[in-house]
Amino acid sequence: MKFLRSSLSSLGITISFFCLNSPMAFAQFSYEQAHSDSGISRRPLATIHQEFAGLASAQGHRADWIQYGTSVSGKRLMVLKVHDKNFRNSPGNLRPAILISEAIHGNEYLHITDRLPFEFMKPGQQNPAFEAFLGAGGVIYFVPVMNPDGYSAGRRENARGADLNRDFRIQAAGNQGFAQPETRGITDFIASESMSSDLLVEASMEYHCCVGGLIHPWAYTRQQHLTGDQLARHQEVGEIVSNLFSYPYGTVNDLLGYGAIGGSDDYYLEKYGRRAFSFEGARGAEDKKLQQHVILWNRVFDLIRAN
Ligand SMILES: [Zn+2]
Repeated sequence: MKFLRSSLSSLGITISFFCLNSPMAFAQFSYEQAHSDSGISRRPLATIHQEFAGLASAQGHRADWIQYGTSVSGKRLMVLKVHDKNFRNSPGNLRPAILISEAIHGNEYLHITDRLPFEFMKPGQQNPAFEAFLGAGGVIYFVPVMNPDGYSAGRRENARGADLNRDFRIQAAGNQGFAQPETRGITDFIASESMSSDLLVEASMEYHCCVGGLIHPWAYTRQQHLTGDQLARHQEVGEIVSNLFSYPYGTVNDLLGYGAIGGSDDYYLEKYGRRAFSFEGARGAEDKKLQQHVILWNRVFDLIRAN
């Protein structure tokens, strides 16, 4: 039986000890509460793209701003790849990779992913965990806006009205997925990078709003649960989040009492077998917690490098 301490600030509810296994757990959350406007003002997409392009040019020795596809309405799908370009891998070694993304639901912008790389690469500032991760061959991909059409329109779905977080291939659920260019684009890109550069996606993290919690697989079923090392790897990050943010962690069923087929977490865990999360920020408040996210990632860099 799992217990947790949680302050669900997005709803102004504080729960001291809460049993996640109870079927009534979080019954007060509706689907709409969990997936609605973040209450954090969206910045123009062009501004975000301009800033990232500027960062890549200032950090040319370790950053590339790459187009991996085109959205339904023709917007560029962009990722910042950060890695030590002088790193030489030894044969047979898999380099650790991390994918951090936001706004796959266009109305759930938290203003975190579009600032994280600027925090890690601040001129004149040392970031030991970040530098050590890159020095060990680590690669970090930042996608500040996964769904640019939805983002620009302030809408959850893409320009075809598709929920992209239901469009990932989940073999265990028989879900073919990848009908949308936004999901196909990023997963093809990461798969191709993994093959060509001997990478293993050690962690994916998608930022959402507004539950205040860390969600890990599985979402496609209530019957299958993580076990053994796989569970331990997710709990390790869950504990870091719990300590830093006082947020609960668990499956979407644990936290919200529902399941969903076609989510990115299930895809990345099924494909790479390591760690996959959705970070649910707090409505109107998560953007004030940037420094906690920096600490979270520094800890994750260290734990991935150590194992
Ligand atoms: Zn969402």
